[in-house]
Amino acid sequence: MDYAKKKFGQNFISDKNLINKIINILDQEQDHLIIEIGPGRGALTKELCKRFKKVVAIEIDTDLEVLLKSEINESNFELIMEDVLNVDLKKLIESNSCKKVSLISNTPYYITSEIIFRTLDVSKFLDKAIFMVQKEVALRICAKANENNYNNLSVAAQFYSEVNYEFTVNKNMFRPIPKVDSAIISLKFHQAYLNQIKDDKAFVAFVRKLFNNKRKTILNNLSTTINTKQRATEILALTKIENNKRPENLSIEDFINIYKETKNGNN
Ligand code: SAM
Repeated sequence: MDYAKKKFGQNFISDKNLINKIINILDQEQDHLIIEIGPGRGALTKELCKRFKKVVAIEIDTDLEVLLKSEINESNFELIMEDVLNVDLKKLIESNSCKKVSLISNTPYYITSEIIFRTLDVSKFLDKAIFMVQKEVALRICAKANENNYNNLSVAAQFYSEVNYEFTVNKNMFRPIPKVDSAIISLKFHQAYLNQIKDDKAFVAFVRKLFNNKRKTILNNLSTTINTKQRATEILALTKIENNKRPENLSIEDFINIYKETKNGNN
């Protein structure tokens, strides 16, 4: 496939059953704004336009503009030709007035984490996000404490949402065929943890630091993060977490408790 650009992580899907299976995960409320990152040749986009009130797609590859505009004539379709990393998603959401907003992306693999973190940043406004990512990344995001691959991205995603590994997608479903299988994951956003922490972005950044040295103990990572071993020892005693545990052994609640304690209750 000579039209696929590797530098933009282009692997296209076209199978109707797969497309419907993915879109069925969204809440079928019609008064729903769907933001799609990377519409590509419009495989998902066309079906989304049929089912929902408004679809805004953000695409970086200017060579796809003509094709997308000619293939999709629906009046509820808006195309933003831009690098998603330059788009203010909050502004975009606020300028539309639908009952629900969700986000969907067969993500370009080279910026999967950035897309997920940016989605989490605006999660307060979202019902769901659906991502097609490399299978290994999907397993990481859905991993629970003590499981392989559990890391700061798993904690961040699960802080904001209930994550669900929906299904594996065989690499042969894509053109061109990538090296590895993919998977669909869904994030159903909730406020349960957000209500406990005022500055959620600071919390996510704090967790990221605690995972800096995954192989070292939580005492070690916390001491480095807050620059004092004595206070780190006190905090772990207060939160009833053993010093020699590793970040990958801690639950979301453990991270929240440690964070709150570092703020001395002023979360
Ligand atoms: N949605 C299509 C599909 O499922 O067949 C295409 C998915 S393809 C894996 C990823 C898409 O994201 C491509 O169309 C690519 O050009 C686009 N893309 C890559 N980097 C992007 C960026 N920084 N901002 C917006 N779109 C981007």
